[in-house]
Amino acid sequence: ATPMSIIAGVGRAAEYGVLVRDADALQRASTLSTLVFDKTGTLTEGKPRVVEIALYNHATEQQVIQWAASLEQGSSHPLAHALLEKAGGQRLPAVEQFRTLAGQGVSGKVNDIDLLLGSRGLMAPQMIPDDIGEQIDRQAATGVTPVLLAAGGRIVALFSIRDPLREESVSALKRLRDGGYQLVMLTGDNAITAGAIAREAGVDNVIAGVLPEGKAEAIRHLQQQGRTVAMIGDGINDAPALAQADVGIAMGSGSDVAIETAGMTLMRHDLHALVDALAIAKATLRNMK
Ligand code: ADP
Ligand code: MG
Repeated sequence: ATPMSIIAGVGRAAEYGVLVRDADALQRASTLSTLVFDKTGTLTEGKPRVVEIALYNHATEQQVIQWAASLEQGSSHPLAHALLEKAGGQRLPAVEQFRTLAGQGVSGKVNDIDLLLGSRGLMAPQMIPDDIGEQIDRQAATGVTPVLLAAGGRIVALFSIRDPLREESVSALKRLRDGGYQLVMLTGDNAITAGAIAREAGVDNVIAGVLPEGKAEAIRHLQQQGRTVAMIGDGINDAPALAQADVGIAMGSGSDVAIETAGMTLMRHDLHALVDALAIAKATLRNMK
C-alpha cells in the first residue's frame, strides 16, 4: 500500500501544476543528483527565427529562401518553421526524393537540383572552405544555430537561426543550482552554439552534437558514473532518454510520446514548477523517515 504522505505529496505537486505518475516517481524524484535538460523548447522558447542570411556562390536571397522553405515543407522540426516563415505565403516548388536525416537536416531535389539543408555535420568537409567555416563558428559563438544550404554540391547559404532562452529559465536554473543539483544541457545542436546558450542559462555541463538515438545513451553514461538522473524534455526524440532516466519529466505542451513516457509532467511551461515539484518530493520523503 502507498503511504498516505506520498499520496498527499502527489496531490501537493498537482496543486503546483505538476502531474506525478505514481508513488515511485515521487520517491525517485527525491533522490536526484543530476538534472539533464533538452535545449530546444525546454530551456529555449522553441520558436526559432532566421536573423541573418549569408550568401555564397552567386546565390540570391530569394532563391535560397525558396529552396530552404521548399525542403522544410516536409519537416516538423522547429527550425523548419523558421525557414517557412521566412518564405511568407509564397507558392513553393515541389520537392522530389525528400528525406529527413534525423538530428541533422533534410534533403531533396527541386527542379532537378540536389539540395541539402542542415547542420555542418551533414555536409562533406570539403564543401566548407575555411572562410565559410570561420563564419559558421563566429555565428554559433553568439548563440545562433547555423543552418547550411547546399545546392548541386556547393554551399549557397548560411542561415543564422535564433531561439532565445525562455524568460524564466535563468532564474529557475539558478534555484536548482543553489539547491545543489548538477545541471546538464543535452542537445543535437553543435557544441559552439550549445556552449553559448549554456553560459547564458548558467548551465555548467554541455553534451552537444548528440543524434536522437544517442540521447538515452548519454543518460546511461551519467548513471554509470553513479548519478541519479532526471531528464527534462518535450520532443518525440526525447522519449527514449526520458525512459532511460531515473525520472523522466515532460513539458505538458510537448509531444504525446514524451508525456506517456514521463514519470512527471509539468502542466505549466515553466521550469519553476520543476523546482517546486522537486522540493515537494524531498519534503514528502523526509517526513516519512
Ligand atoms: P535538438 O537537440 O535541439 O532537438 P535535433 O537533434 O532535432 O536538435 O537537431 C540537431 C541539429 O540538426 C539542428 O541544430 C540543426 O542543425 C539540424 N537539423 C535537424 N533538423 C533540421 C531541419 N528540419 N532543418 C534544418 N536543420 C535541421
Ligand atoms: Mg528537440
